Amino acid sequence: LASRAFKEQDTIIQIDDITIGGEQIHIMAGPCAVESREQLFEAADIVKAAGATLLRGGAFKPRTSPYAFQGLEEQGLKYLAEARERTGLKIVTEVMDANTLPMVAEYADILQIGTRNMQNFFLLREVAKMDKPVLLKRGSSATIEEWLMAAEYIMAGGNYNVILCERGIRTYENYTRNTLDLSAIPVVKHLSHLPVIVDPSHALGKWKFVPPMAAAAVTAGADGLLIEVHPNPSEALCDGPQSLTPENFQALMKDLGKIADAV
Ligand code: PEP
Ligand code: MN
Repeated sequence: LASRAFKEQDTIIQIDDITIGGEQIHIMAGPCAVESREQLFEAADIVKAAGATLLRGGAFKPRTSPYAFQGLEEQGLKYLAEARERTGLKIVTEVMDANTLPMVAEYADILQIGTRNMQNFFLLREVAKMDKPVLLKRGSSATIEEWLMAAEYIMAGGNYNVILCERGIRTYENYTRNTLDLSAIPVVKHLSHLPVIVDPSHALGKWKFVPPMAAAAVTAGADGLLIEVHPNPSEALCDGPQSLTPENFQALMKDLGKIADAV
């Protein structure tokens, strides 16, 4: 179902007035985690003003350490919904398990499956039953074939609105957090009709390298970007080192505008 051989035409995912996978490039931006109402609103206003159309922010956080901030859970989802009311931005947020799926789906416009859950087949089968688009992140050690098979699980369960997200894979290189597999963009476009977006923030892990790779992803044919932006990265509870400041995000959006005109 996910393959180009099955369906030749690009899939375009409609969320009200937004179309993902068509001509336009969409920017999903916001903090790694929803930390407070004030932090989220500030981030939402910044990314909206700079031209993003979707707001990201985790309410349930899959942290490596059990002692790290785990997210505001339902309160965080409520803040996201309020931020949508305030700005008109659509909401992308991660769902970590089947128990909390109905709750997350109540607030989200797009359900994010994180890299750690890409092959949680039970969860994939559950999101397949939901009437919401799914942003499927590539597993950090998944081949393109495995990633497309994970998409296949969601589609086989009846949900055809799958957006693939390349977020870097684990390699021997450890200067960057992961290695952004830019080649996955044209390869997936060749193999599949699904939209592909790129998350340079989690791939690079260091904010300085995010803008050039965001530009490269758009040039390589990505349908959109997922970018972490924090009003004050040095105080972020999660992923501060890879988060863009408001100024850096504005500068990136300006540069992307020039690229979009050029490609
Ligand atoms: C995220 O986007 O918040 C996240 C946890 O990303 P990943 O699953 O790619 O690590
Ligand atoms: Mn993050």
